[in-house]
Amino acid sequence: MIPYGKQEITADDIEAVVKVLKSDFITQGPVVPQFEKGITDYTGAKYAVAVNSATSALHISCLALDLGKGDILWTTPITFVASANCALYCGASVDFVDINPQTYNISAEALNYKFVEAEKNNKLPKVLVAVHLTGQSCEMNEIKRLADQYNCKVIEDASHAIGGKYQNKPIGNCLYSDITVFSFHPVKIITSGEGGMAVTNQKTLSNKLNLLRSHGITRDQSLMTQPSDEAWIYEQIELGFNYRMTDIHAALGLSQLKKLGGFVSERHKISNRYKRLLKHLPLTLPHEIEDSYSGLHLFVIRLKLDLISKSRKEVFDALRASGIGVNIHYIPVHTQPFYQNLGFKTGDFPESEKYYQDCISLPMYHTLSEAQQDEVIAALEDALR
Ligand SMILES: *Cc1c(COP(=O)(O)O)cnc(C)c1O
Repeated sequence: MIPYGKQEITADDIEAVVKVLKSDFITQGPVVPQFEKGITDYTGAKYAVAVNSATSALHISCLALDLGKGDILWTTPITFVASANCALYCGASVDFVDINPQTYNISAEALNYKFVEAEKNNKLPKVLVAVHLTGQSCEMNEIKRLADQYNCKVIEDASHAIGGKYQNKPIGNCLYSDITVFSFHPVKIITSGEGGMAVTNQKTLSNKLNLLRSHGITRDQSLMTQPSDEAWIYEQIELGFNYRMTDIHAALGLSQLKKLGGFVSERHKISNRYKRLLKHLPLTLPHEIEDSYSGLHLFVIRLKLDLISKSRKEVFDALRASGIGVNIHYIPVHTQPFYQNLGFKTGDFPESEKYYQDCISLPMYHTLSEAQQDEVIAALEDALR
């Protein structure tokens, strides 16, 4: 089976991890801050806080932005459930903004409209989670302008997008957001096993994120309510969690980070080749916005079902049967049973639901060979026939 995504672990990665295993610290040692510095150097953000997953990073980012009971978070229906669940962890509620039918990212137009309505109804959100689906940035210029106008904080969920750029600057520089979150799950662009990172340019947010990832405990005199010269003293000043990343994971992440640029340019070669060789088929291929360089986590095609005699399920099943590990990203979050129980209904977000009817993610990872890609294309041609 050619999977839809996969990691590549080479000798240098293994060496970096073994080095940590042989050292004095396997968690909370010197490598986590080295990985964090690697990410701030790469993105240009001022501060980075490594955690055990992007889900944890989203959770403590919401808390750091004071999201709580009575507050509202908005995100897109076309995302992994974690982008919405983070609000519910904090006791806040969730609402969704429909997607742009060309980019599949949150629609700036729909966002504008929804802000106007929400202001009338006194239901303005405190936080917006903008998800860079497939690795292509949302239109952050416009999103930031609207968010500022309505006093709404912005988290970029860049789980798909490390290594990508927007307006010639690395995604994660936080010029358009309060916090950006990355995932290092093995299926993403670089991996630490499990792992995530929150980056920000705001010192107060970085302090809060640091506290929340480790029980709300500090040994920093400047943060203590009663500074003490007793060396054993620590203070718990928030209710935090154990969301720490280990040095073992950080070593793998840091080793992979060194290769990020190469990984993403390989993904672009594969994407360009797909675009060239799939042109003749009844498909909608990914649309690139101006001033954008995608991280290319995913390569999503949409079937022009009115030109095909088969259903999406038939095409999907045929591809799987010929050993192509296609997938669907994503089932709209608001149609999940848990969210239906919260009151969302099928029909609430038509563009997202339309997208879900005909999307398929083709295999996309930097070690996908031309021969494997040819296999994918041949299987797709067959399946569409
Ligand atoms: C993978 C993913 C997450 C969650 O990442 P984990 O590191 O697995 O917690 C969140 N949001 C999006 C958009 C993702 O793709």
